[in-house]
Amino acid sequence: MDSPFPPARVPAEDAPEYLARLNPEQRAAIETTDGPLLVLAGAGTGKTRVLTTRFAHILLSGRARPNQILAVTFTNKAAREMRERIGALLGAPAEGLWLGTFHSLCARMLRRHAEYVGLSSNFTILDTDDQMRLLKQVIESYRIDTKRWPPQGIMGVIQRWKDRGLTPPRVSKAEDCDFADGRCRAIYEDYQKRLIQLNACDFGDLMLHMTEIMRTHPDVLAQYHRFFRYILVDEYQDTNTIQYLWLRLLAQRGEGQANICCVGDDDQSIYSWRGAEVENILRFEHDFPGAHVVRLERNYRSTRQILGAASGLIAHNEERLGKTLHPGRDDAEGEKVRVISVWDSDDEARMVGEELERLHKDGHPLSECAILVRAGFQTRAFEERLIAIGLPYRVVGGLRFYERAEIRDALAYMRVLSQPSDDLAFERIINVPRRGIGNTGLQKLHLHARARDIPLTAAVLEMLAEGQIKGRAREHLTALMKCFGQCREDLPREGHVVVVERLLEDSGYLDMWKADKSPDAPGRLDNLKELVRALADFENLGGFLEHVALVMETEENAGNERLSIMTLHGAKGLEFDTVFLPGWEEGVFPSQRTLDEGGAKGLEEERRLAYVGITRARLRAIISHAANRRIYGNWQSAIPSRFVEELPPEYVHATGDATRARHNGAMRSPVFGATPFPVVARRRPVVDATTSDTPARRSAFPIGTRVFHQKFGYGTVTSVEGNRLEVAFEKAGPKRVIDTFVEQVS
Ligand code: ATP
Ligand code: MG
Repeated sequence: MDSPFPPARVPAEDAPEYLARLNPEQRAAIETTDGPLLVLAGAGTGKTRVLTTRFAHILLSGRARPNQILAVTFTNKAAREMRERIGALLGAPAEGLWLGTFHSLCARMLRRHAEYVGLSSNFTILDTDDQMRLLKQVIESYRIDTKRWPPQGIMGVIQRWKDRGLTPPRVSKAEDCDFADGRCRAIYEDYQKRLIQLNACDFGDLMLHMTEIMRTHPDVLAQYHRFFRYILVDEYQDTNTIQYLWLRLLAQRGEGQANICCVGDDDQSIYSWRGAEVENILRFEHDFPGAHVVRLERNYRSTRQILGAASGLIAHNEERLGKTLHPGRDDAEGEKVRVISVWDSDDEARMVGEELERLHKDGHPLSECAILVRAGFQTRAFEERLIAIGLPYRVVGGLRFYERAEIRDALAYMRVLSQPSDDLAFERIINVPRRGIGNTGLQKLHLHARARDIPLTAAVLEMLAEGQIKGRAREHLTALMKCFGQCREDLPREGHVVVVERLLEDSGYLDMWKADKSPDAPGRLDNLKELVRALADFENLGGFLEHVALVMETEENAGNERLSIMTLHGAKGLEFDTVFLPGWEEGVFPSQRTLDEGGAKGLEEERRLAYVGITRARLRAIISHAANRRIYGNWQSAIPSRFVEELPPEYVHATGDATRARHNGAMRSPVFGATPFPVVARRRPVVDATTSDTPARRSAFPIGTRVFHQKFGYGTVTSVEGNRLEVAFEKAGPKRVIDTFVEQVS
């Protein structure tokens, strides 16, 4: 009677409205407020809803004040949504909550205790560019052969240590790997010192510093123990070691049980490549003795058909706990999952566009539709199609294709090629890749151009002629201007595709990305090749640039009524009425990198990603695979993803739609009976990283090699000069091309 709190379990008939709407297992998960609790359940079973309602329940039952609950979500978007839903349950906006991602929560804590690690509370958080710049400065004094040990690789080693909670003194000698001749640990230590001197943190430091402070300052930890009476964690399957350590420190108090509630699904663990450890979820009961484990088996999101398809697919994984999922909605029979085979990516985009138009006409809101891709390069075809038919879209968690840095750079090169007086474009690329032109150099250039009333490119030429540019910059700018000049001369004769390829290669721009060892560099190269592919659809460079300018302009004001395009990774936790899952082909999904290097574990993770994809759909899931795909700029005939075959046939309606393709004469597959289709070996030309920035590197294609070029078709290499090939094309005649843009034909 005297208890300040209402009884933990409210009889069903007296339950507040927010509890009455839940099933008994969900209610149990919410009403077991005290002690450790793990909700381990499949997609769409209401885990996030349980967490949100639990938050509100703790507040409404007076167990804690808003700032006494710590709630962790996987993305900022998820945090925003949870805050809104809690506000709706409380009937008032929720303020002052400790609700956010691991990083945002840690940043907020670290501002309070920065001095313990030698920072002041106004420390800056560096972006990735700044991090690299700083690391390169540190490396300089080590005289490391950066060709052999690229700084990006060293950064990778440091980040992995940080993900595992290893501060420099905690890195044992044995941990220090062969990378950089065993000097990574020393570099790491110096890099951390420099960060402190700059009063700065990198992203990984936010968690690392906070965890270290709590480990070494019991008073700080005790303060947080008093502070946070309840801890809630969503997407627990994707926590990495440092996040796990941080949570455990906060949750394991000396006295009494930890009030920690984690929800997760081992089948949706898709971030092992970023150090996530699915074992954390399996260890929960061991770490928190007496933990309750609640399983939820009713899926309230998807139709029975979608659920059947997703469950059948994930059953092919061996490493899983195994869960049953029953449809939780009465109206939930639904339509079968559609698997559509299309001709190529343009046809795929057309098919998706038509479906979307039909749905839109029938009154389905666009905001309830999503296209979920495996890799960033896939979005371009959809974006162009959607713009062409006027359907508004947003690319969630990433940039629209033509807004990506590498695409904008390449476009700037093309703009200067077509219009030497385009100063804005020239300014963008003058020092990309680095050509030794600093701010002062650029200023001088501007002054000269303004004084003479000439464009920057002309100013460069004049200043070079007058000997006003010296040293490394002189050498590089002379080469760049020569390259533009030559390309401009070649343009009318050789056509825009070949010349743009040459420009990107000879200016050193492609080499810059090839030498970049950061994880997103291969994706950027894929995007660049996709850009050149798009170029081939236009008569000339001017036409293409005009098209792009128009495409970029369409930053429409469609409010929320837009469909979403995002990666499968970014779609975790979200739901839509209709989900399109394009590109289900071997080499795209599962990705080529997984097939080459991922082994059985990698493949299981890709399959979990497929499971995440299908289970985002409430009513409709439409999977497609193309018979032919231009990857790395070249045509390849594609095999449907193994995941397509693994879908249980009773839940699938397959349509072979490839024949209604755009009939692009020369590009017909033998399967469909037209001109023979190129079977292209799946390999990239070998680029030796150690020599990639010397222009005269050896080509991977000796004389006599039979090759395929996306625009000119088949041909035979007749001469080789560095990376330039002279190819006798069967239809297009002799042409000079860059080796990056041809593939050997088997
Ligand atoms: P995921 O694994 O994809 O993150 P989840 O387990 O977090 O999924 P939620 O997003 O919380 O699932 O819930 C899926 C959908 O089902 C939501 O639209 C939610 O509102 C609804 N839902 C959950 N529980 C119930 C219920 N008891 N009755 C009706 N609808 C429910
Ligand atoms: Mg969820």
